Amino acid sequence: MIPPPDGVQHAPMRFETRAVHAGGEPDPATGAIAPPLHLSTTFEHGPAGEPHAAGHIYIRESNPTQSRLEDALAQIEGGETALAFGSGVGAGAACLQALDPGSHVLFHRDLYYAFRTMALEYLPRWGMEASFVDMTDLGALRAALRPSTRLVWTESPTNPMMQVLDLRAIAGEAKRAGSLLLVDGTFATPALQRPLELGADVVLHSTTKYLGGHSDVHGGALVFRARGDLAAKAAHNRHILGAVASPFASWMVLRGLRTLACRMERQSANALAVARALEGHPGIAEVHYPGLPSHPGHTVAAGQMSAFGAMMSLRTRGGREGAVRAASRVRLFRNATSLGGVESLLEHRRSVESADSTTPDDLIRVSIGLEHPDDLAEDLRQALEER
Ligand code: PLP
Repeated sequence: MIPPPDGVQHAPMRFETRAVHAGGEPDPATGAIAPPLHLSTTFEHGPAGEPHAAGHIYIRESNPTQSRLEDALAQIEGGETALAFGSGVGAGAACLQALDPGSHVLFHRDLYYAFRTMALEYLPRWGMEASFVDMTDLGALRAALRPSTRLVWTESPTNPMMQVLDLRAIAGEAKRAGSLLLVDGTFATPALQRPLELGADVVLHSTTKYLGGHSDVHGGALVFRARGDLAAKAAHNRHILGAVASPFASWMVLRGLRTLACRMERQSANALAVARALEGHPGIAEVHYPGLPSHPGHTVAAGQMSAFGAMMSLRTRGGREGAVRAASRVRLFRNATSLGGVESLLEHRRSVESADSTTPDDLIRVSIGLEHPDDLAEDLRQALEER
């Protein structure tokens, strides 16, 4: 972070300010305000491998643009250290592979489907055990924790059911059981929710989504409360197994961070307006959006998020057929996977998830962008009409 020019100790800067400036020190070589994009794969070292003063040796280990992004991510999440990856799932895999064989990982039942597949298909191959529990029920969580549980894995809000988990309470349970807590914060972003401040140990992001913000960069990140064993092992996994972020992707995500606070504020306001407009629509059985007082997690969300985000899911009437029909009729929304860009997208999730998907057949996942909310609500209303 930029040192105060007068050397006087100031109050910690607010999120919006940190998001604009973190990792943004002017380039010492040229004074450039925009961060330089260093594409070099290798860095000169001494004859016995002595690294250059900047510390970089080879791109798979670290590079200056990625380091700037990591510095920025640690600052805006309030962590001691961060690692950038080539994808969100790459970040998750590096974290899971940092656990010892014999570890048990406890996942919330509703989670991003590739992590469910990773739990079921890969954890046993890596000598670990996975199980799933509904963490909206703290008693069930307590009962599912084992002496061998090393990591509790949550998302909030969840993809795609939009469940809200009480992160403070879950952090308490995990700690009592001697386990670490990871929160996939992709939907909320640090602009709206900072899990480390609520007691989590690691935050995971698919930076492909809101942090990039424009559907044009693929990346992931882990932000750690402390520079401990887990962070060191995850960094080692990234170096040896290779899920690094490219310099250009790092640069793009760093650029996205600058506007994150204002995009999240506006996109959340748009989503709330759309959710309100759709609640009670005859073509919809349920609107899952934590900003609606009817959402079972509304109060918990209000206590841990500064706004309710821009993701929602709609349970349509008429089962799978009703959902696919509505998805086929949209004019402004695009049918596409992924989320978090400035353009609104939707998707019939069950059609694109793996065979072990637990997503209901009548569900459409919606990512609300920066268009006018009335245009978005009108588009969904006409798509849902009986004709
Ligand atoms: N976590 C969540 C909540 C996601 O929605 C996604 C992707 O959609 C991921 C993680 C994985 O991220 P990536 O696609 O960048 O690997």
